[in-house]
Amino acid sequence: MSHSRFNAIDTVLNRSEIDIDFVDSPNENIASFFGCNVFNEKAMREYLSEDAYLDVKAAIQAGSKLSRGVADTVADAMKSWAMDKGATHYAHWFQPLTGKTAEKHDSFFTITPDGQVIEEFAGDALAQQEPDGSSFPGGGLRSTFEARGYTAWDPSSPAFILEVGEGRTLCVPTIFVTYSGESLDYKLPLLKSQAFLEQAAIPVCQMFDEQVTKVIATLGWEQEYFLIDEAFVNSRPDLMMCGRTIVGKHASKGQQLDDHYFGSIPERVYAYMRDMETECHKLGIPVRTRHNEVGPGQYELAPMFEEVNVAVDHNQLLMDVMDRVARRHKLAVLLHEKPFAGVNGSGKHNNWSMSTDTGKNLLSPGKNPGKNLQFLTFFVNTIRSVYEYADILRASVASAANDHRLGANEAPPAIVSVFIGTVMTQVLDRVAIGKSTKEDVQVVLDLLSKVPNLEMDNTDRNRTSPFAFTGNKFEIRMAGSTVNCAAPMTALNTMMGKQLTRFKADVEKLTSKGKEQNTAILAVLRNYINESNAIRFEGDNYSDEWRKEAAKRGLSNKPNTPEALDAYVTKEAMELFQSTGVFTEKELRAHHDVMLENYSLKLDIESKTLEELSLNYIMPAAVDFQRRLADNVTSMKSAGVKDFGYQVDMIKRIAKNLKEMHALGQKMTIEREKAHRAKTSRAGAIAFCKKVKPLMDKIRAHADDLELILDDKDWPLAKYREMMFLR
Ligand code: ADP
Ligand code: MG
Repeated sequence: MSHSRFNAIDTVLNRSEIDIDFVDSPNENIASFFGCNVFNEKAMREYLSEDAYLDVKAAIQAGSKLSRGVADTVADAMKSWAMDKGATHYAHWFQPLTGKTAEKHDSFFTITPDGQVIEEFAGDALAQQEPDGSSFPGGGLRSTFEARGYTAWDPSSPAFILEVGEGRTLCVPTIFVTYSGESLDYKLPLLKSQAFLEQAAIPVCQMFDEQVTKVIATLGWEQEYFLIDEAFVNSRPDLMMCGRTIVGKHASKGQQLDDHYFGSIPERVYAYMRDMETECHKLGIPVRTRHNEVGPGQYELAPMFEEVNVAVDHNQLLMDVMDRVARRHKLAVLLHEKPFAGVNGSGKHNNWSMSTDTGKNLLSPGKNPGKNLQFLTFFVNTIRSVYEYADILRASVASAANDHRLGANEAPPAIVSVFIGTVMTQVLDRVAIGKSTKEDVQVVLDLLSKVPNLEMDNTDRNRTSPFAFTGNKFEIRMAGSTVNCAAPMTALNTMMGKQLTRFKADVEKLTSKGKEQNTAILAVLRNYINESNAIRFEGDNYSDEWRKEAAKRGLSNKPNTPEALDAYVTKEAMELFQSTGVFTEKELRAHHDVMLENYSLKLDIESKTLEELSLNYIMPAAVDFQRRLADNVTSMKSAGVKDFGYQVDMIKRIAKNLKEMHALGQKMTIEREKAHRAKTSRAGAIAFCKKVKPLMDKIRAHADDLELILDDKDWPLAKYREMMFLR
């Protein structure tokens, strides 16, 4: 008899309402507490002298290093601010390549050599720290004699106070590097890509507007997640260890009815959302929209967009906050890309654009027709860069978990293509066939000025495209729900920066020969449109026809992570990342290696968990039921009853499943061991992908068949319908 499953159900059914103390937002007036735990402008003005404040602002604006003196002043102000808010500790908060965030806490409190107890936080403690990071993945960047990693303050993302229970910690966003400065994290490459994009974009902007002196990339992510009762997670080793169900029969009521999407939000979930959003707002995370998603128990949360580095930090912080707040509500957030087979998975759309210090969104057609050539320039260059570097973009969102989405039979396929909608298709098609004359520039500008408000024109939004233009921004839809957005953002910023550099050179080639600037621009854009035709697709990305058509067009289709990741170490990728200063070859190889290791690690854990579930849960339950059937047959026989067709069929079916599960399980252990012995990270990951994973799928099929036929009360694992519909 299974106990934990029924205990879990009992627990869920008997939950009393959880009393959440919304003290910090009694009247839901968000403005009154938004950012109260952030060392933002307001806090800086309050705790820094006017001069120090201006110094810091200038350094942040220019992205330059702060002098020792200024760092000391800032550290002191931060400490006073944090202590006034009850913080006792500080931590450098960073984003190692594990995908999670990490922090090492130190106390402000110190004992001086003469025995005095003081609270201290000096400039160097703010600027640098040496967490014992030797257990974070480094892909061989750290030799054993120099295993330490160093964290260094990123002043462009504000410090904040993390509240955990009664504890308050001042967290300083930092990069994480080796002794010689090689990146061990997601943040440093992102910052470099942002700087590169900016210096490539400014001169292009200045072709249209000389006032522009600053360009930032903007990101608005949309976080999807599942929410279930925590009792179910505690009752299932797979959810606990892997964040997803690795066995489980689909519920008969899945998302077929689509009644969950935009339906009313259940009360318990609503309380959670409200609580979680309050925590986000205190941390300055501008979350705004919330709604149900397609899968039962699935939801989405989106903020206002922000400068990319801050937006990435906020998303990383959010994932942590979501998890912590859920515990208070006895709920569990499943951020995994595919917690339940057969039900919609979770993604994290990355909405991306660029804007200038003159307040212009470079991907918005805007009201001023004179500026529309600038819009067209950034628009076409984005498409051209995705055409050129599609494989790198694909690689940036590759993970074991995301493989369940991309290339499986749902949400965007692994084939990168760009959707732009009918209106922009007409514009590009017209540009493509035009001539490079002054009159033609006017025709295109007229055409663009007639473009309807694209933001409002959502009618032909294509939900199946992995990369789509949505009115005033592009949206990477391939990103999985657990991804650190820095990965795709770094790729996109770098690709686009490189493309803009090329654009500028191409235009100058023509203008130096005497061509007028606007006609030169149009001529170059025309070439780009024609060159990148293959990447544009407006149809159904899920269809088989598209797969065939894409192959014909020469677009690549890398449905699994180890192969998709190859794109990071091609000659082309090396050239891209090295020439732009975003990664050195050594760093790129190390990052690639870590991604492969992460993949193998995930599959290793999943495969071991499946083994445990099979041997300790499912097979014993099946044997019990089988014995009862056999006993029943025996007693029927002795009573002279011969109608035991069902019993015998089931006995045989169980026997067959058990035999197969047993054999496949043994095979899986052998293949796993082989994968571990592989000579390279890539060979290991490929072995997990091609040898171990298919065996897991086969074992699952048997487990799911057993779930279908076993007596419900014998089944040891919480069922899909229970997890998704009980709350
Ligand atoms: P969807 O219809 O795909 O759910 P929404 O319109 O609800 O999209 O939200 C899309 C996201 O795009 C939001 O997070 C929003 O902040 C973001 N966004 C809007 N404009 C920009 C921009 N210029 N740059 C980056 N992100 C943006
Ligand atoms: Mg979206």
